Amino acid sequence: MVQVRDGIRVAKFGGTSVATAAQLLKVKAIIESDPRRSCVVVSAPGKAHAKDTKVTDLLYLAHELGAKGQPIASVWSQVETRFLDIVRELKLDLDLKPVLDEAQARIQAGSTADYAASRGEAIHGVVCAALLKAVYVDAAEVVFFDKAGRLDAPRTYAAIKSRCIPGRRVVIPGFYGTAANGEVKTFSRGGSDVSGSIVANAVDAALYENWTDVSGFLMTDPRIVPEAKGIGEITYGELRELSYMGANVLHEEAVFPVREKSIPINIKNTNRPEDAGTLIVADRDPGHQVVVGIAGTKGFTVVALEKALMNSEIGFARKVLDVFATHGISIEHMPTGIDTMSVIVSDKQLGAKLEAVLEDLQGAVHPDSIKATPGMALIATVGQGMSHAIGTAARLFAALAKARVNIRMIDQGSSEQNIIVGVEEADLATAIRAVYAEFA
Ligand code: ASP
Repeated sequence: MVQVRDGIRVAKFGGTSVATAAQLLKVKAIIESDPRRSCVVVSAPGKAHAKDTKVTDLLYLAHELGAKGQPIASVWSQVETRFLDIVRELKLDLDLKPVLDEAQARIQAGSTADYAASRGEAIHGVVCAALLKAVYVDAAEVVFFDKAGRLDAPRTYAAIKSRCIPGRRVVIPGFYGTAANGEVKTFSRGGSDVSGSIVANAVDAALYENWTDVSGFLMTDPRIVPEAKGIGEITYGELRELSYMGANVLHEEAVFPVREKSIPINIKNTNRPEDAGTLIVADRDPGHQVVVGIAGTKGFTVVALEKALMNSEIGFARKVLDVFATHGISIEHMPTGIDTMSVIVSDKQLGAKLEAVLEDLQGAVHPDSIKATPGMALIATVGQGMSHAIGTAARLFAALAKARVNIRMIDQGSSEQNIIVGVEEADLATAIRAVYAEFA
């Protein structure tokens, strides 16, 4: 296992970790148990129980009503109750009414959706700062976006650094910052993970702790393999290959800011702080664990083209890709043969455009045949160790053959840390179980 160096830890707590007063007491105990946890980033209160509504969702709803000039009062009272209950139950000496009233007035008057949504984190940051006896740093004052809507990294990092002074505890709300035009702007949903990562980069943290409601990542989907083991250590690159296939514990953009400085991320469980969780690192020694995780998703279509002498036709692939690009479709994979080429596209991307795409492909490259086959599932078997372990592919294919799963497509990227196979959707669960049994 990679050793985490001593130094500042940025602790980000997700929606379920800060959903209720009881959860916040766990957060307090976690923060107070380690003085290195001096920078705290918080989400808005999430679901307190399965049927509950996230505060962020209530805020988007309030925005929709406000924008139409309809009264937001009934939605707003739910938002207010969530915060005021927490303040009362925690017996905090805090008058939240002025901030709540200001937000309500602006949303009622037709604020932007981003402003409305950001208030969950902004207000909860005030609550958490009071609970943790920390300094509140409004994200609008330290996180900046440029004109293109991308993070203005130099300005942001400098601002965070100037406000996070060693020896004092700060609470920064996640999810938003200030756009180039001075207005509040949010990241995409779940973006507090990104905020935490940015703060970790800015303060040169030794560790970015991402506190959530699971003890890290599992090797595969527990709905398919109930006994799936936890992942102790995984690299940023491996996680990328897995998240791309649908793992959703961490916002997919959250890896990039910390990755620049090789700061490890530790996924931790607020409800079970003693669990080690998953450590996401720059590099790891794969040891015997060649495969770190297996992810699978349904919903892909294969568009297969065949044309005699395709491989000597200059520009063939470009013309094919142009057709997909013109339709605004991002493709997943493009396995090729000598005179064949398949393009694999997710059904979500394809939508109702299939007929038009086929027609345009016909016109663009005049193939001898063109065929679309829906109903494919993709399975990514990921592990950095693969590039050195001879026989990994053989083990994978033998396991699938033994489980009588027909492989429709194989793709191994040049990173050699991911073998992707396409199977019939109906075979997905059988295939994942077989691969897991072979490599776990
Ligand atoms: N509260 C925001 C959301 O629900 C951001 C976050 O929690 O990370 O998407």
